[in-house]
Order: sequence, then C-alpha cells, then structure tokens
Amino acid sequence: MSNQITHYINGKRVAGTSGRSAAVFNPATGQQSATVALASKEEVRAVVASSSAAHEAWANTTPLRRSRILNKFLAILEERQDELAAAITAEHGKVLSDAKGEVQRGLEVVEFATGAPQLLKGEITEDVGTRVDSHAVRQPLGVVAGITPFNFPAMVPMWMFPVALACGNCFILKPSERDPSASLLMAEWLTEAGLPDGVFNVVQGDKEAVDALLHDPEITAISFVGSTPIARYIYETAATQGKRCQALGGAKNHMIIMPDADLDQAVDALMGAAFGSAGERCMAISVAVPVGKETADALIAKLVPQINELRVAPGTDPKADMGPLVTAQHRDKVLGYINKGVEEGADLVVDGRDIRLQGYEDGYFVGGTLFDNVTPDMTIYKEEIFGPVLSIVRADDFATASDLVDSHEYGNGTAIFTRDGDTAREFAHRTKTGMVGINVPIPVPMAFHSFGGWKASLFGDHHMHGMEGVRFYTKLKTITTRWPTGIRKGAEFVMPNMS
Ligand code: NAD
Repeated sequence: MSNQITHYINGKRVAGTSGRSAAVFNPATGQQSATVALASKEEVRAVVASSSAAHEAWANTTPLRRSRILNKFLAILEERQDELAAAITAEHGKVLSDAKGEVQRGLEVVEFATGAPQLLKGEITEDVGTRVDSHAVRQPLGVVAGITPFNFPAMVPMWMFPVALACGNCFILKPSERDPSASLLMAEWLTEAGLPDGVFNVVQGDKEAVDALLHDPEITAISFVGSTPIARYIYETAATQGKRCQALGGAKNHMIIMPDADLDQAVDALMGAAFGSAGERCMAISVAVPVGKETADALIAKLVPQINELRVAPGTDPKADMGPLVTAQHRDKVLGYINKGVEEGADLVVDGRDIRLQGYEDGYFVGGTLFDNVTPDMTIYKEEIFGPVLSIVRADDFATASDLVDSHEYGNGTAIFTRDGDTAREFAHRTKTGMVGINVPIPVPMAFHSFGGWKASLFGDHHMHGMEGVRFYTKLKTITTRWPTGIRKGAEFVMPNMS
C-alpha cells in the first residue's frame, strides 16, 4: 500500500516508527486506500515534548497576532474547502455536499476564534475596597489534547483547536484512525498560515496513543468526542491524572410530532435528520415519537414512500442522498441491530438490509430502515445504532412522549414539531436534554453558542466552542492591587476586608 498516513510534528509530516499501523478503507468500494501509523507511547512522548517546547512563545504571542494567523487559516480553508470535503468523503463515505456542510460548520468555529482579542478581554472592578482594585484575566492552560471520532473528521477537531489556539494553548490532535487524512490537511494549512512549529501537532493512533496522552504529565486538558463507554473512561482517567476534561458521548435523539404539527414539514425534517450521513451523526434523529394513533399512522404513510425512494450511492455521486457506512464492522453492527429489532418484536416497515449497488458490491451500504411499534424495553430503542435506522415509538399524549425523552440514558439533542407555543415552551423548559429544536430537527448550536448534551452524552462541565470553549481552554486568575498611598499603617491580623 503506497499511501502512508503519517503524524504531523513540528510543522511537517513524520512517518511512524512503532511498526504498528491500521488499514484505511474507501467505504464505497470496500477497498483499502491507505495505511495509517499508530503511535507508540514513546512517539506520543516526543510529540508532547515538541508541543511543550513551543508553548511559552505561543502563550506570549498577543491574542491579536494569534487571531491574524487564524484569519489566514480561515482564508485557506475557504479557498480549499472542496479539497478537504473530498478527503472526508473518500475515507468516511458521506456524500460530498454533506462533507462540504461539515467543513462549513467547522470553519464557523475558526471565524469565532479569530475574535481572540475580544474573547479574552478580562474583568476589572475599580475600588473593591478603598483604593484597592481587582482584575480577572484568563490565561492559557498549556499543552492540551483533542481525541476525535470518525463521523466528523474535520468539524469535530475544529470544535476544539481554533478556540484552544486562540486562547494561547498548544494543541495535539489524535484523530480517528478510520478517516485520518483530513487532520493532515488542516495541520499543513495551519503551518502555511504562519502557525509556529509545534503549536499544532497530530499524532495518529489507537488506544495506546490515547492512554499515553491521558497519562502524560505535560498535558493539562483533554477534549474528547466519541462513544459513551470511551467518553466515560476518558473522563475518569483524566480526572485521576488531575487533568481538566470535557468528554462528549453518544446519543439517542427523539423527535416528538404533535397532532397539530405540519406533517409534511415534519416528514421532510425526519428524512434528513434520520438518514442524512447514513445516520452516523450524534445529532441524528433515531426515534420519532408521534402523539396519537392518527398522527402515527399518517406519519408512517408519508415516510414509507420517501424512505423507499432514498438514493443510496457512493458519496461522490452528486445525486446520492446517503452514502455507505464507515467500515464493514460498523455495517455488520447496524445489520445486527436490525435483526435484533425483528427478533424482539418490532414491526420492520422498511428493510434496508439487502441493498446491492451495481459496481459497488463490496461497499458498506445499508438502506434506509424503518421500525414501527418499538417499545422502551427493546435493544434498538435503548442503544445507539449509529446507522440509517429510524424507530417509531407511539405515545398517547404529550406527557408520555416527553417522559420518554427524559427517561432515556442519553440527553444529547431532541426536537418537537408543533404549532402550539405553550406545548413547545413547556417541552423546551422541562426536557433533560442539552440541545432542543422547536420545529428544527437537528438543533446544532452555531459556533458562537456552545455544543453539548446532558446525562450520558457529556462528562465534564463545559460544552464545546462558544464562550464555554474559551472557559474550558483558559484558567482564571484574579489580581487584587493596592498602591502605596492606599496602604494603611501596621500589620493586620484579622481576615482582610476591603472597606
Ligand atoms: P469511538 O468512541 O470508537 O472513538 C472515538 C475516539 O476514541 C477515536 O479517536 C478512537 O481512536 C478512540 N478510542 C476508541 N476506543 C478507545 C479505547 N478503548 N481507549 C481509548 N481510546 C479509544 O467513537 P467513533 O466510533 O469514532 O464515533 C462515533 C461515536 O461518537 C458515536 O457514539 C457518536 O454518538 C459519538 N459522537 C458524539 C458527538 C457528540 O457531540 N456528543 C459528536 C460526534 C460523535
């Protein structure tokens, strides 16, 4: 295999030396396209040392200068977004237009981070006591690491590193080993934009690299996005190592459809939210909860023909609605869930298991799948499938529908479709979910707001990007000042008060 995907250290691509590697596939053809290096503990140590060496100078670079470099990176990204999108489609499989959408959402975080001088403005209070002033500043943490999932190989890293860099940290990215090429393009473009060597490094790898990052004493904070069992492990391990950590996990997002909803709008929204990116989105809607029998029957009658007409094709086909799943293993896992749903008694209304594409017989395709009469005790309801499988759970009334959302282990996103303001407001207020859409199926917050779920969808305190990101990547320092004319005579032995 000629295409070797390397690390990126000190401003250049560096081949792995561990002797370990993993195969990278084109999911549309099932053919191996490259080999990615998997770092050893020693290689990770060398990467961290390179970042540590770069940190002092970067932390002392003014926010305005950091912002200018991010602005140049933004211009490069805008100009070459098609190249990045093509690299994503080649290894992830998602349709090209969707890959471009992913790049655009990541690019918006870079736009946000270019506001570094404004974002890092502190607070000052004059006269907290007589002739005593206080000011609070936010300072960088040091060397921080981001560990990212396969499903957004450009956007999720960009939820993290633009803000981390704007705040004066050095960033080490450990991308998913399934689609690692996007990380190297972004690294090269950062260098081209003028980012000093070592400020942004990429280390490719698997559990060995992740564990080395978690245990390295020079890493001060870990940002993670991936599945819940790993998110929990990352959070717990980082905490025992005294590191700050935000670990975003899996999801099972419900959409409630009230009897007064515009059903055509709800069906269009569900189609995109359930089957876009073949369901491999942490904000995908995987459970639809129609309220009342009439709503459920009408919803299914409108959904079925649309699911049957879904155009499943390689991501490079401009007519494709949905591409393949990421790997053969993941396709088999999704097929296993569909079999399990049938075994457990759900009604399989549209079956996507037997899809075969001429010329792409070895691709990892699964067609759009719809289950009706799914119940909360079934495996396909409880677990995240992460594929093009939509479950209908029927509810008699709003309270039952809303309780379903709240009783689920995950709390990433949710949506309600209704024309009734009272119901919408009540739902938004009471739901135990981090991101809520009212007649919006995938309520992903914009870059200047923050992204994150509740319950088993996020471990830690801070959501990603927006001001939450700035707080995560900085330490607060509060300075109290008194000049000689304000100093009273004599020692004070009581708890100081500033009066
Ligand atoms: P994953 O948990 O398998 O992998 C995520 C990262 O963790 C990868 O970099 C991987 O190399 C690393 N990793 C995997 N196993 C590990 C282990 N045992 N020890 C240490 N590190 C390990 O997730 P994935 O399959 O790449 O991505 C899909 C998952 O990510 C889904 O569950 C999805 O919901 C979730 N996700 C969540 C969000 C969110 O914002 N909450 C966003 C995107 C994806």
